[in-house]
Amino acid sequence: MNVPFVDLKKQYQDIKPAIDKAIQDVVEHTAFIGGKYVKAFEQQFAELYGVKHVIACANGTDSLYILMKMLGIGAGDEVITVANSWISSSETITQAGAQPVFVDIHPDYYSMDESLLEQAITPRTKAIILVHLQGQMANIEAIEKLCKAKGIYLIEDCAQSHFSEYKGIRAGLTGIAGSFSFYPGKNLGAYGDAGCIITNDDVLANKCRMYANHGSLVKHKHEIEGINSRMDGLQAAVLSAKLPHILQWTEQRIANAALYAKYLGDIKEVILPAVRPESKHTYHVYMIRAERRDELMAYLKEHGIETALHYPVILPLLKAYSHLGYTSEDFPVAAAYQDTILSLPMYPELTEEQIAYVAETIAAFYKL
Ligand SMILES: *Cc1c(COP(=O)(O)O)cnc(C)c1O
Repeated sequence: MNVPFVDLKKQYQDIKPAIDKAIQDVVEHTAFIGGKYVKAFEQQFAELYGVKHVIACANGTDSLYILMKMLGIGAGDEVITVANSWISSSETITQAGAQPVFVDIHPDYYSMDESLLEQAITPRTKAIILVHLQGQMANIEAIEKLCKAKGIYLIEDCAQSHFSEYKGIRAGLTGIAGSFSFYPGKNLGAYGDAGCIITNDDVLANKCRMYANHGSLVKHKHEIEGINSRMDGLQAAVLSAKLPHILQWTEQRIANAALYAKYLGDIKEVILPAVRPESKHTYHVYMIRAERRDELMAYLKEHGIETALHYPVILPLLKAYSHLGYTSEDFPVAAAYQDTILSLPMYPELTEEQIAYVAETIAAFYKL
């Protein structure tokens, strides 16, 4: 049996008529950049997600960068983020001219350890990019409280947490703004690069929309210099075609995680992902920690099972940040986990048979 890490083809086959029609419509109307399909997606996503403004842009890295710039973050400022994430969470801080400051991860939930946040705050701290990693929200309640008390902007990186919840509130709705990626493999994925900003703040929404479109809201009226970060019509139409299914797909991920827990439960060499109380984990990634990880990964590959690492090297230890002089002692939890983490195949279309096969193969490995 073959179990790919993600299977985008299967999802396409399930909704092929709607996707094909969506693409055909955009071509017929030659609405390639911005235009009615982008506007329609913005409105549909805003309504479904429960937010006032959705600002579509080219990708989920730009949405973070646009927020940095429009919140006035720049030279001399520090922005705090988490030691283990995708590099967008920190490179956009540098791109805005500020300095990234990393905080270690929570030992059970893998996102920023809220108990370490206060000591990372300095008079120069302007914002926090809080990443809700793998589909599980960080302890946003504690973090928001601290941000409020210290007058720091809270930006939520929701690239991996579409429709995740903590205490009934969805990712991206607590801070000043949320940033989403619609990269094809994300829980809601386009057929190319796409992203968006969500916010309930009217002023910030207008600024971001302007900045993403060369600094203009009205053609040829450039109020500021901006960037070219627009969503294209094909991506918007694909996303609109997928939107009616996203809540069901999210529930299927959760059901698949429960099946993994059922089949992997007895294998003492692996640690399953923990779910924070009162939260909804949407499993963008199903990550275990496992003894003899590299050997296990190779064994699974030999048996047709594709796995991945999120991430093989934590951000502060990447070559890109060597000038900051961090060592693994600065991030004892994230650095130690690097060598044991393993992400198993996870997508809505995964079957119980496939999940059982993954678990059997892992069990067989440890009995060798
Ligand atoms: C995917 C991702 C991004 C960036 O999204 P792109 O659309 O690929 O630019 C940002 N942050 C996190 C945590 C991500 O996983």
